[in-house]
Amino acid sequence: MERRWLNSYPNEVSSHLDYGSKPLFAYLSEAAAQKPEKTALHFLGMELSYKELYEQSVQFANALASMGVSKGDRVAVMLPNCPQAVIAYYGTLFLGGIVVQTNPLYTERELKHQLSDSGAETIICLDLLFGRVSAAREVSSLKNVIVTSIKDYLPFPKNLLYPFVQKRQNPSVTVDITYGGDVHAFKQVLKKGGKTEPQTEIDIAKDLALLQYTGGTTGPAKGVMLTHRNLVVNAKQCGAWLYRTSDGKEVVLGALPFFHVYGMTVVMNFGIMTKAKLVILPRFDPEQVLKTIHKHKPTLFPGAPTMYIALLNHPDIKKYDLSSIQACISGSAPLPVEVQEKFQSVISGSLVEGYGLTEASPVTHANLIYGKQIRGSIGLPWPDTECAILSAETGEMAEPGEIGELAVKGPQVMQGYWNQPEETAAVLRDGWLLTGDMGYMDENGYFYIVDRKKDLIIAGGFNIYPREVEEVLYEHPAVKEAVVIGVPDPYRGETVKAYLVLKEGASCKEEDLNTFCRERLAAFKAPRLYEFRSELPKTMVGKILRRVLVEEEKEKQAAE
Ligand code: AMP
Repeated sequence: MERRWLNSYPNEVSSHLDYGSKPLFAYLSEAAAQKPEKTALHFLGMELSYKELYEQSVQFANALASMGVSKGDRVAVMLPNCPQAVIAYYGTLFLGGIVVQTNPLYTERELKHQLSDSGAETIICLDLLFGRVSAAREVSSLKNVIVTSIKDYLPFPKNLLYPFVQKRQNPSVTVDITYGGDVHAFKQVLKKGGKTEPQTEIDIAKDLALLQYTGGTTGPAKGVMLTHRNLVVNAKQCGAWLYRTSDGKEVVLGALPFFHVYGMTVVMNFGIMTKAKLVILPRFDPEQVLKTIHKHKPTLFPGAPTMYIALLNHPDIKKYDLSSIQACISGSAPLPVEVQEKFQSVISGSLVEGYGLTEASPVTHANLIYGKQIRGSIGLPWPDTECAILSAETGEMAEPGEIGELAVKGPQVMQGYWNQPEETAAVLRDGWLLTGDMGYMDENGYFYIVDRKKDLIIAGGFNIYPREVEEVLYEHPAVKEAVVIGVPDPYRGETVKAYLVLKEGASCKEEDLNTFCRERLAAFKAPRLYEFRSELPKTMVGKILRRVLVEEEKEKQAAE
């Protein structure tokens, strides 16, 4: 396919980059060697230098090796942002292991799927999540459970973790864990690990660094296989495109979760590769973020639209000085122009929109921080990233302005889905990744996303696949038919709405369904709106017409 956009590349950025030949972990070794005393992580008042972060990651790698973990083994990391999350991630990589990022919000059911699908034999989790992890052990291949407490790194407990705890359990409550056998305490594990960096041979183009699970329109979550090269490339593209990075000068705010590919690449890996200081927060709390910016003066703040909206709506935003911020990139969902303009007026630099997907490590496009920006556009493709818009009618390259499916090809594109050759073949063709997003390119080579081909719902930056929610609803004894759609929501972007037809004679309240869903799905996936109907619109073959409901909802909202 033609590289239609190439002519439009602005002079100030390169269309090609040198990505080197080092595996991802080698950048941490380099940072520790060159800037040992520099702060790598700042976490709620405690700091870890690059030397300390490196040493502890190496110790962790050696301890994993003594538990029998070796190259190619999957290691699940189920942690919110905290020093242990970075240590477990880089420790696994030092050993040639494959990190399986696990959302701490996952329920037992989701966790079981991910662990058995990936075949992870080791997991590192927060003590507060131990209940779910031990329940998942029955069905998975787990052999080693390494448990850490936020107190391992903080002198006193913080109350910032409650969203990760099931049933809103008070985080200061002690969790009943019996250490010994295959349940290990993180601090003890670290002490056991030697301080010599393991000598692991890595083929950066072939060896996997990560399995990043992403939902599927046609079934349960699939593991996206990303190599060391994929991850190094995307972080380097990020540096070249967005930031005028002077080595180590940036202070990056880590409010995006590292267990999501966006926060992992654009904050954690990018930050470490550029020897920046990372100011990390265990979760997004608007007040905490404002206070952190005011006090620690980050220069970069990658986020999602809902984050910027929440900050703008905070009643005390004017009390805080946000002028240290030079660059914000917004991704994961469309960025409303109004939000972009308002947020730019409270920081010093620019807030630009970018675009990507897990299958591309994740970023493929962004507007330039220090160059031409187009409102409502996802910007230009990143260096070495080819793009095509495929006409829905002909499947051929569309003309500028014509809407079609966006396809991308580049060194950040995944190797495929773990153990899913058919699913892989459906989206990867001759290196071209079919994104499932509909969009167009303008005459100047800027891209725009107009709709999602897939029925993905994005609420508050989290992806929700209707089918997964529908499957749970169908498990309820009173439910005959269920369909789930995303409806516009001024704060979360979209919110999940369920339409239900109950079985004859059955009765069921909204609250019952809500409890039922929340027991089986992470809270962000559970519907917030329910509508009971006597029938649902269907095609001749009985397929529920989701689009009709979407249109109805749009009309209803327009009439309000
Ligand atoms: P994920 O795999 O979780 O990173 O989600 C990827 C999906 O998020 C994409 O396929 C898009 O549908 C959506 N997305 C990401 N960035 C944008 C954006 N700037 N505008 C619209 N949709 C976006």
